[in-house]
Amino acid sequence: MTPAPTSTPTSFPALDGRFARELPELALPWQAAETPEPRLLVLNEPLAEELGLDAGWLRGDGIGLLTGTRPPVGATPVAQAYAGHQFGGYSPRLGDGRALLLGELVDTSGRMRDLHLKGSGRTPFSRGGDGLAAVGPMLREHLVSEAMHALGIPTTRSLAVVATGRAVQRESVLPGAVLARVASSHLRVGTFQYARATDDLDLLRRLVDHAVARHHPHAAGADNPAIALFDAVVAVQADLVAQWMLVGFVHGVMNTDNMTISGETIDYGPCAFMDAFDPATVFSSIDTGGRYAYGNQPVVAEWNLARLAEALLPLVAAEQDAAVALAVESLGRFREHYSAAWSTGMRAKLGLPAGLDEAVASALVADLLALVQADHVDHTSFFRSLGAAARGDTEPARGMFLDLAGFDAWTERWLAVGPDADAMDRVNPVHVPRNHLVEEALAAATDGDLAPFERLLAVVTAPYDQRPGLERYAEPAPDSFAGYQTFCGT
Ligand code: AMP
Ligand code: MG
Repeated sequence: MTPAPTSTPTSFPALDGRFARELPELALPWQAAETPEPRLLVLNEPLAEELGLDAGWLRGDGIGLLTGTRPPVGATPVAQAYAGHQFGGYSPRLGDGRALLLGELVDTSGRMRDLHLKGSGRTPFSRGGDGLAAVGPMLREHLVSEAMHALGIPTTRSLAVVATGRAVQRESVLPGAVLARVASSHLRVGTFQYARATDDLDLLRRLVDHAVARHHPHAAGADNPAIALFDAVVAVQADLVAQWMLVGFVHGVMNTDNMTISGETIDYGPCAFMDAFDPATVFSSIDTGGRYAYGNQPVVAEWNLARLAEALLPLVAAEQDAAVALAVESLGRFREHYSAAWSTGMRAKLGLPAGLDEAVASALVADLLALVQADHVDHTSFFRSLGAAARGDTEPARGMFLDLAGFDAWTERWLAVGPDADAMDRVNPVHVPRNHLVEEALAAATDGDLAPFERLLAVVTAPYDQRPGLERYAEPAPDSFAGYQTFCGT
């Protein structure tokens, strides 16, 4: 049944269908499943405003836009095709199995943004899946992606989560939901892998042109646009993963279909923030080999970028050896770029003065991380407590260590370089979405009580503010919470 337009068509945003128009081979026109009893759980009003959407309308008649059941007249919702390496194994056909791209809109600052749905029903890419999503995981994506945004880390955004009124069968029966997601695009490494596998060079070329125009327009005039695009993706991904590392974020499922061309974090499935600093930290129940462990993320990003390079090769140079040489050279810059971004970030976290000798700075960083790891120190609260230490109160930080002599010796060296406490407080968050708090909030929301979720959302979207009364939100998980696991297929 074709849904009827609502009574206030003037409130509808003008949605373009640029992806569908320019890349029809990758876009399967499709319709969202009806929602028996839609109920808005959370609306991101600042984001709605940024998009030029009326929040009052979205709360009322416009709810059908957020579920995809009442798309604007003339919009072409599509399921996007992509391939991907999942845990190293190649799947030639993944695609949006429970998602739809509604279209693109131009926001109030002139930027083109995708409006996308997750949990909107089965599509031809669903394979064995039900095409649905549950309230808990969609609120989780809302919470964590908005926390990442507030931390200043590039990410897809969440506009809203709407409960559908439909039951979803997982290990138990759960309430269903649709997430309305906003991104600068949904182009992934896997999109290029899919296009490459068709052997249609014209399609691959159009995909490169589309990606360049949307994300890296300076590459359009380059002698070699394919390699210029690749260079740009290498740079934004190196920056992105460095920022994850600096806040202790573990993505958890860095498959090539979950890595963007824009450099935005995407796909908040089994992700989690590390408590005690340990490079081997893994949360995902299915990541038994630790492929996507905290400390492996830079290497995995580089591996994924090598897959992007392979997909681009035919456009890089006519002759394969020449193309490979250019791609290898470009990929070689990942490590330099990553190291530079990470070192700059660590220097900021320690408040090191700009002119400090590089060797002194690296030794301070390396020696500190060795101490923090050896004593299983909580990552977020430790770095924040260093601000107080720089002001003369070393006790809160010192109290987290067993090796007091080691900490004291390090602190003396560090204080001698004159760290800038105020600058540190601007980059070391008080609040990240701690796993035990997230679980508590989602369990309550699944049972119908949204208050803990709303409180936690307010806390993690102002991550640098230390506020009285919120101490509980800044503390590490109780010991009873050890062994936390997250689950895919959510
Ligand atoms: P993800 O692990 O979320 O990146 O998903 C990997 C692939 O599985 C994508 O093609 C998704 O669209 C698909 N998928 C995940 N969950 C479902 C589901 N419940 N129904 C259909 N497809 C799904
Ligand atoms: Mg995915």
